Amino acid sequence: MEHFPIFLDTKGQHIVLSGGGEAAEAKLRLLMKTEARITVFAVAPSATIEGWAAEDRITLRTRQITSGDADDAVLVYAADEDDALDARTKQIGRAGGALVNIVDNLHDSQFITPAIVDRDPVTVAIGTEGAAPVLARSIKAELEARLPASLGVLARIGKRFRHAAEALPFGRARRDFWRDYYDHAGPRAIREGEAAVEPALHELLDTHLNTKARPGHVAFTGAGPGDPELLTLKARRALDEADVVIHDRLVSPQILELARREAILVDVGKIGFGPSTAQEDINRLIVEHASTGAQVVRLKGGDATVFGRLDEEIDAVEDAGIAWSIVPGITSASAAVAAIGQSLTKRGRNASVRLLTGHDMKGFADHDWRSLARPGEVAAIYMGKASSRFVQGRLLMHGADGATPITLVENASRPDQRIVASRLESLPQDLTEAGMNGPVLIFFGLAPRAVETSQITDIAQEFA
Ligand code: SAH
Repeated sequence: MEHFPIFLDTKGQHIVLSGGGEAAEAKLRLLMKTEARITVFAVAPSATIEGWAAEDRITLRTRQITSGDADDAVLVYAADEDDALDARTKQIGRAGGALVNIVDNLHDSQFITPAIVDRDPVTVAIGTEGAAPVLARSIKAELEARLPASLGVLARIGKRFRHAAEALPFGRARRDFWRDYYDHAGPRAIREGEAAVEPALHELLDTHLNTKARPGHVAFTGAGPGDPELLTLKARRALDEADVVIHDRLVSPQILELARREAILVDVGKIGFGPSTAQEDINRLIVEHASTGAQVVRLKGGDATVFGRLDEEIDAVEDAGIAWSIVPGITSASAAVAAIGQSLTKRGRNASVRLLTGHDMKGFADHDWRSLARPGEVAAIYMGKASSRFVQGRLLMHGADGATPITLVENASRPDQRIVASRLESLPQDLTEAGMNGPVLIFFGLAPRAVETSQITDIAQEFA
């Protein structure tokens, strides 16, 4: 992030702009929304700008800006659309100690003006650091459509009510009240007119003062394989409402970003306990947080019900008398099979698919190798990197064909996703050679679509 967004207090401040054409007009339209004093320097101002001056919305000086003109300014805009003039304005602005923006010249500007969605006092600023103005515009359009026009009014009335709302205890109770106001009571009231909003707030406050605090709850939530777009809407909502998010190492940072800003994030893949945090410690942590009344999201990679040690955690939560639910997620096998363009099951090939783990708590995991070794069988092997030699040995011993296709999918659905086609006979060597450091899903009995199984290749994710 090269440009850091802040909101500048413009009340009583002076903003200076040099320029009288279209670029100047566009900036002035935005600046006139602020509470700043605005002075415009233009030798030949447009009629529109003259009109604004006549309405006293700006002060117009029909001459070039000169040194000293910007000495008390906080911001200076160089909007003459002329390199030499703009450079001069910049110099004058800098000498006066102001921050300077040269319109449409990111490189020489000290700050940039974002695209703005205005629901005053709610303001959304969108910036792309000049990389994609088109994108900024389309995000703006989306937000304009999504945020009701009444939002500003609701926020303004809400702001006046903040003091009264302090009757509710700080934290969750107050947050629930405001959420209820902005999501439900406020929009409902404003349909009857602005005057109905304040009475509705009083009524809502009474209701909230008389309701018992929400009890603690644990949502065992699947975060999916990594791509934030593969998160379910339900998981997003749970993250949005969470007081505490207890997550594994596999959960990607982009997904954690979606948690409420005030939420406590606990990484049980790391904290003090080492790579394999003792399960009891995790259980205790979940129960401790939920017992305080917190809405806890226990966030696990993929789907929480697949090799997630979920039942142990549910038992602990249930023993403590805490309510819980499961929010399903997309398991890595689903993401990985999509990446190689295949189906997990296929008519005439396999009518069942197995989700296996390469090892369990006791070491390498044993399975019904004989039935798996039959032609056409398909298995998705989780946590199979370290046990690949063992798995290969067992399958060959039980009669599997050494030429059975194997596909390794590393970091499925993530930007660094990698696909390697292999065969049973060369699995351990191919894995070593590929040097995969991320999580790997191993498909037994599946080759990537349209790739020779004999060659080891990285293939693109898109299929023609
Ligand atoms: N609950 C998870 C699995 C947890 S076990 C799920 O449903 O996906 C951890 C194993 O999952 C890893 O060793 C790896 O085999 C697999 N895995 C998780 N995320 C993955 C990803 N993005 N790409 C490939 N494999 C992944």
